[in-house]
Amino acid sequence: MKPAAFDYLAPATVREAVDALADTSRHAQVLAGGQSLMLELHYRRSRPDLVVDINRVRGLDRLDVRDGALHVGALARHRDFESPEVAPGPLGRLLSLAAHHIAHPPIRALGTMAGSLAWAHPAAEWCAMAVTLDAGIELRGPTGARVVGARDFFHGPHLTARRRQELITAVRLPLLGDTTGIGFAEHRRTQASFAVIAVMAALTVFDGVVTEARIGLANAAGTPVRAYAAERSLVGAEAARPLSGPPEHHPFARAGGIAAECDADPRARPYADVAYQRQVIAVLVGRALNQACEDLRRLSGGDRR
Ligand SMILES: Cc1cc2nc3c(=O)[nH]c(=O)nc-3n(C[C@H](O)[C@H](O)[C@H](O)COP(=O)(O)OP(=O)(O)OC[C@H]3O[C@@H](n4cnc5c(N)ncnc54)[C@H](O)[C@@H]3O)c2cc1C
Repeated sequence: MKPAAFDYLAPATVREAVDALADTSRHAQVLAGGQSLMLELHYRRSRPDLVVDINRVRGLDRLDVRDGALHVGALARHRDFESPEVAPGPLGRLLSLAAHHIAHPPIRALGTMAGSLAWAHPAAEWCAMAVTLDAGIELRGPTGARVVGARDFFHGPHLTARRRQELITAVRLPLLGDTTGIGFAEHRRTQASFAVIAVMAALTVFDGVVTEARIGLANAAGTPVRAYAAERSLVGAEAARPLSGPPEHHPFARAGGIAAECDADPRARPYADVAYQRQVIAVLVGRALNQACEDLRRLSGGDRR
């Protein structure tokens, strides 16, 4: 099907883009990478009066590290995160692992992190990443700018705290310290499909003991999930032991079980009932935590890439 007719505007500045969105008499949609919006237009699930194409807005593709965070402009593409060099230390490695799991190269060349957050698909890797890292989402609207923390941003599938007149201008991702190991595990049905479940983990360790844990889950509820109960169960646990042997005695396996039963709230899907999804979550959390330990071991061996 062809999209319904709409007006098209390609502003050159953020100010012009925000002015275009400010007109409440028209239903306007922002066009970034177009990898979700174009489908919506073609299926006529979205019928805006106006499409505001931000691809020519100067400076929105910027990625820079300052004040302890990676600042991601609204036009930074998924592909920009494929290299771990995108940010120093564990943050760059974690973003790189996640980026390689998003769709396939042509989609990664166009799709943007900000667009993914605005679209708020429960399975999106960047949405789970944002809650895992306590990202800040920078919004600009007719009344000024504000920053919303990721944990307050996602309200449901495709529902966020963004007002219709607001543009996401950037995403702030706090850097992770050098004593943090990272892991990422995902199960999907085909190479380019959305995750059945994805898990990301960051473990901070001192003297072999976990002092802080961050665990995020994608597609484990209607919004991205921060597995707080599982995280709490890990603080004070020994981090050196790999996940092997009787799993019920291992802190990572226990954390997996807690994430699956207490933190996640999966809905039945045609190809995956709730029990199956909980099992996948438990296994993937264990794997991601194991990887985080491996990452730390590699670093303590002197490899700081
Ligand atoms: C076949 C296929 C497989 C995919 N697989 C995955 C996957 O595995 N993981 C995954 O995470 N995603 C996946 N995607 C989605 C892809 O990542 C999209 O790129 C992403 O969801 C949206 O980003 P975009 O820049 O393309 O946004 P667009 O499609 O341009 O916009 C999406 C929505 O966000 C709004 N929007 C965009 N940018 C802004 C902004 N700066 N401010 C305010 N609103 C904005 C738009 O108005 C629109 O409503 C897949 C898509 C396809 C087609």
